Amino acid sequence: MIIQMNPNATREHIANVEAIIEEAGYTVHPIYGTHLTVLAAVGDERGKEGLYERLLSQPMVDKVEFILPPYKLVCREVQKGISRPDSVIQFEFEWKQGKKQVTIGGPEFVMMAGPCSVEGRDQLMECARIVKKYGAVCLRGGAFKPRTSPYSFQGLEEEGLKLLAEARYEYGLAVVTELMDAHHLDLVEQYADVIQIGARNMQNFMLLKALGATKRPILLKRGMSSTIVEWLMSAEYITSRGNPRVILCERGIRTFETQYRNTLDLNAVPVLKKLTHLPVFVDPSHATGRSDIVVPMSLAAAAAGCHGLIVEMHPNPAKALSDGAQSLNEEGFQILMERLPAVIRAVGKIAPWEPAAVPV
Ligand code: PEP
Ligand code: MN
Repeated sequence: MIIQMNPNATREHIANVEAIIEEAGYTVHPIYGTHLTVLAAVGDERGKEGLYERLLSQPMVDKVEFILPPYKLVCREVQKGISRPDSVIQFEFEWKQGKKQVTIGGPEFVMMAGPCSVEGRDQLMECARIVKKYGAVCLRGGAFKPRTSPYSFQGLEEEGLKLLAEARYEYGLAVVTELMDAHHLDLVEQYADVIQIGARNMQNFMLLKALGATKRPILLKRGMSSTIVEWLMSAEYITSRGNPRVILCERGIRTFETQYRNTLDLNAVPVLKKLTHLPVFVDPSHATGRSDIVVPMSLAAAAAGCHGLIVEMHPNPAKALSDGAQSLNEEGFQILMERLPAVIRAVGKIAPWEPAAVPV
């Protein structure tokens, strides 16, 4: 920890801060400059977050900085020079032809696709058929929908979850669906293979704490105005409560630009891969809000090194009950799946839906 004293600090002010640091178990190394004094406090920073506020409120303290990041479990670096390898998340599900395994965070690029909302059996089965045909591994679909307007379609709730389970059984696709309320955790985990936490709930701390108790992997979307550190702290809430299986999903942030719904922050992908060992996904649908730019931004996301994408696809976007403007139709999805492998290969990963990637 580094404490920067004000240039007007007296010997007494400095001694007061030194005493607090020593009492907390640190050794102090003062650096007396010509204008100001800096105190380097050496010791284990874990569990000492409360000290930050205390030091900042002392007279003549200008700045307090921790050396180690406040997120510990999701941090890539354990100690100086020692890094954790990428987390690989595996799970299994059953469908009509037996068991299937899904691996997220490994060399195989994983595609999750499907409608924004589950609207009914015909719509969902058609979505499942299409996304499976071109190589998706997971079927996405919201049964509980976080809508800006209370008058918009709110989702089919349990009926939607049952339809997702039916599509999984029929098509062999793992189910990704959103959980909005901790009271629905028991219900949603019965049907979901991966539980999605939406942008609006990234800092719903009671919900995050509840997720520590489930064995299901969590797809944690970035809050629309959250910093990367805030996002990692949300992941830390889940992992510190006992569920280490968190996947981060960049879904665009709010900026001043109005040409698209959000701004896809692709810088986040390589930055996250440095800061954390968790798998990183990108959602180009919510990040753009425009189906006409979903394909190029998906390619860009793959080039940036993400482990997979979650994309909205609807057989008839003009009739979608939510997010039609950003949903690819079958043709768009086919184009995406045809173009992605070249980029995935270029960054050293495998596109398992490519015929050449299937072992003979
Ligand atoms: C969604 O996936 O349909 C959704 C609502 O996403 P987000 O939470 O990123 O807005
Ligand atoms: Mn949506």
